[in-house]
Amino acid sequence: MPANAQNSSYLWCDTCRRSFSYSDAPDGNCPLCGGEMRPTSKVNAILRGLMANELSPSPIVSKHRQMVKLIWTRNGMGEQYYRVLAPDMSYSKFEGAMTRLLCQGAEEGWVQFVIPDAPKDDESLYQMKVLDENRFLAALQSLAGPDASIEEGA
Ligand SMILES: [Zn+2]
Repeated sequence: MPANAQNSSYLWCDTCRRSFSYSDAPDGNCPLCGGEMRPTSKVNAILRGLMANELSPSPIVSKHRQMVKLIWTRNGMGEQYYRVLAPDMSYSKFEGAMTRLLCQGAEEGWVQFVIPDAPKDDESLYQMKVLDENRFLAALQSLAGPDASIEEGA
């Protein structure tokens, strides 16, 4: 390989999701896992590094999901929904599925999660507002088991 190509090239390890310069890995193998690496341009190495960062679960995002879960399950509501919908899954699975559904609902605008500006002792300030009841009910029905006590076609 010509010298100038080496200067502008990096080696990318698919396993470790990071790049190394040729001086870090003279034999072309990853210094961390020893795996084979493939050449990549400097810009691609930087972009891949950014993407790998972006794909790793952010602690803020997972905390946000946790907040959503805490809000809709507040006051034993989680168990109540579970009892009425009688879904064909464990409670913890239902909690996860419902949380995903409600996050989607917030994205699409049929529910809204309200959080006070600063942390408050009064839990009632943390609210789920249903903005479109029909879409909310339809979403709940999608989780319902065969023995659910909700009305069909309501
Ligand atoms: Zn590696």
